[in-house]
Amino acid sequence: RAKHAGGNRYELADPEADARAITRHGLTTALPVALERGEFFIEYQPLVHLGDGSVRGAEALVRWLHPQHGVISPDRFIPLAEHTGLIVPLGRWVLEESVRQARTWEAVTGADQAGLPLRVNVNLSPCQLTHPGLVSDTVEILERAGLAPGALCLEVTESALIGADDDLLKPLRRLAEMGVDIALDDFGTGYSNLANLRRLPVSVLKLDRAFTQGMQHFPADPVDLKIVEGIVSLAHSLDLAVTVEGVETGAQADQLRELGCDTAQGWYYARPGPPDRLHELALADAT
Ligand code: C2E
Ligand code: MG
Ligand code: MG
Ligand code: MG
Repeated sequence: RAKHAGGNRYELADPEADARAITRHGLTTALPVALERGEFFIEYQPLVHLGDGSVRGAEALVRWLHPQHGVISPDRFIPLAEHTGLIVPLGRWVLEESVRQARTWEAVTGADQAGLPLRVNVNLSPCQLTHPGLVSDTVEILERAGLAPGALCLEVTESALIGADDDLLKPLRRLAEMGVDIALDDFGTGYSNLANLRRLPVSVLKLDRAFTQGMQHFPADPVDLKIVEGIVSLAHSLDLAVTVEGVETGAQADQLRELGCDTAQGWYYARPGPPDRLHELALADAT
């Protein structure tokens, strides 16, 4: 039925697509109200040091508890929030909440073996990068919470920075100079020029889940292994740390450790969860 129809006709003829369109519209109009009503919440997924297995921090992942539809994943509503501009106040709320949370972790757990507090990673949309308040908002949020800039890492996708000119990089550079870490998220999916990395104020590469997926089966695809090995050695030669996403099995973790990756995140260690679970995990491995 759908195969021979053009894109538009298929959408009109498909009742499911129609329902999705209504939902999309419904979600879009409900977004601003949702922020006012406090329907968003954040789950935190631990970032684990591959060398010693200790929890070093967590990535903040926003969710929407919709009164009728239940929990909605960010893949569904972030693009809508970006489209309508609501991502700016929403992103600021996520940052503020996550920074406050990181300060709480610090108060409970103190520093890790390396003398660093648990860090928090927060995702930034491209629209937030071009918003003039980014640097001043971030400074204010850190100061108000009393969190050191070094305990915050902002994640920006590789695709957001492709072909970025100096104007776009300036706020990131200022944040990096203050000590905030910048991570290049979903690395390896954006076809960026590897040599371009030197120009970016980033200190962490987050290897996309696609690479980890290639290692799900044993033996892993030797070409995937070579690619990861190459990226890790390039990253280290540029003084960048490598974090891997989507680690689901112990075998993947072992392989990635052998390949020299620094930090891992994935269901094998923990799914995203409530903030208090992080102290428990961090304190459990300190003992
Ligand atoms: P991301 O930043 O690449 O986050 C990693 C995603 O991978 C998360 O999906 C996480 O739950 C999922 N994940 C973690 N470990 C595993 C694993 O072992 N296996 C599999 N299959 N998946 C794993 P989530 O929470 O649905 O978030 C999706 C995306 O939404 C994020 O991708 C990020 O781009 C965006 N996002 C989430 N929160 C925010 C936010 O506050 N602001 C912005 N701008 N974007 C956000
Ligand atoms: Mg991320
Ligand atoms: Mg990612
Ligand atoms: Mg990803």
